[in-house]
Amino acid sequence: QTRHVRERALEALTEAARFFYAQLHGPQGAQALAYFQRRRLSKKTLNNFGLGYAPDSFHALLDAMTQKGFTKEELEAAGLIVRSDRGTYYDKFRNRVMFPIIDMRGDVIAFGGRVMDDSKPKYLNSPETIVFNKRRNLFAMNRAKKTKSEYFLLAEGYMDVIALHQAGFDSAVASLGTSLTEEQARLLSRHTKTVIVCYDADTAGQSAAQRAIDILKKTGIRVKILKIPGAKDPDEFIKTKGADAFRKLIERSDNDVRYRIEAAKDKYDFTEDDQRILFLREAAGIIALLDSEVEQDVYTTSTAKLAGVTPEAFRQEVKQAKIRLR
Ligand code: ATP
Ligand code: MN
Ligand code: MN
Ligand code: MN
Repeated sequence: QTRHVRERALEALTEAARFFYAQLHGPQGAQALAYFQRRRLSKKTLNNFGLGYAPDSFHALLDAMTQKGFTKEELEAAGLIVRSDRGTYYDKFRNRVMFPIIDMRGDVIAFGGRVMDDSKPKYLNSPETIVFNKRRNLFAMNRAKKTKSEYFLLAEGYMDVIALHQAGFDSAVASLGTSLTEEQARLLSRHTKTVIVCYDADTAGQSAAQRAIDILKKTGIRVKILKIPGAKDPDEFIKTKGADAFRKLIERSDNDVRYRIEAAKDKYDFTEDDQRILFLREAAGIIALLDSEVEQDVYTTSTAKLAGVTPEAFRQEVKQAKIRLR
């Protein structure tokens, strides 16, 4: 019984993806197509990701799907239509560009839809359904898992991942707006040893990155962090600076310890002696947490150099921090 319900939901979602795709390339889709072009997406990228358009109507999808033999109950279970208080049904996604979310088997399990202007909410995602568990899926994982890349890139958004793939970084995935879950981290750990986190440059993105790092490390994944200078996210960076510049960021990405130390450094003004001392105290706290003596030694030396003190003096500070931890 549930098996049948699941199968019907998957059929409905695949059929809906076909509908949105056809709409993008049909007479109603001109504005949406222009939107994707403004965002520099090629024809090939649109096709690779099966991007589409949900028309500006409360029943366009409902009508098309009813014609294909789907019932309202099936469409509601698939998260495609919503039941109003009055008991009528209407399309959930209206006048939005559509991003299908595809699982590891290649089935469409959900959608993200974006407005084409500044109205809110900017993105609307499918609800949790019998086939869509947000916590267990990553956007573009179906494509990323096929690559032979030695690392995966973890970004925040749909457009970041799509821009990254278009620029040749085809191991990019996104955590679908929510902060990374343990299930998503485990999924990543089954496919790669290294994840490079490239979240947005804003404060929200950077604190989400910090949480993601902690969750990834628990699964034993080697984590690196990429900072995006002069742009708010990977999509914008690639658009303004190009793919080669992004490749250089990847090459220069820090491991998580260095990232934490750099992040601490950014908080202090090194021209003031007391600020340098505060930085060294904070950095000592970060280094004291490391398990291995060798690691501690490496970062003790480099951090001392960074702040212009002798490694011997800073080693004392790290020792003090370790005592405080006990
Ligand atoms: P764009 O470049 O299209 O403006 P973005 O990906 O840069 O989008 P962010 O605001 O950085 O947008 O959000 C990152 C991701 O978080 C989005 O791609 C989307 O998956 C999710 N998200 C953002 N806003 C919402 C929202 N209002 N509801 C649900 N998810 C959202
Ligand atoms: Mn963001
Ligand atoms: Mn963006
Ligand atoms: Mn963003």
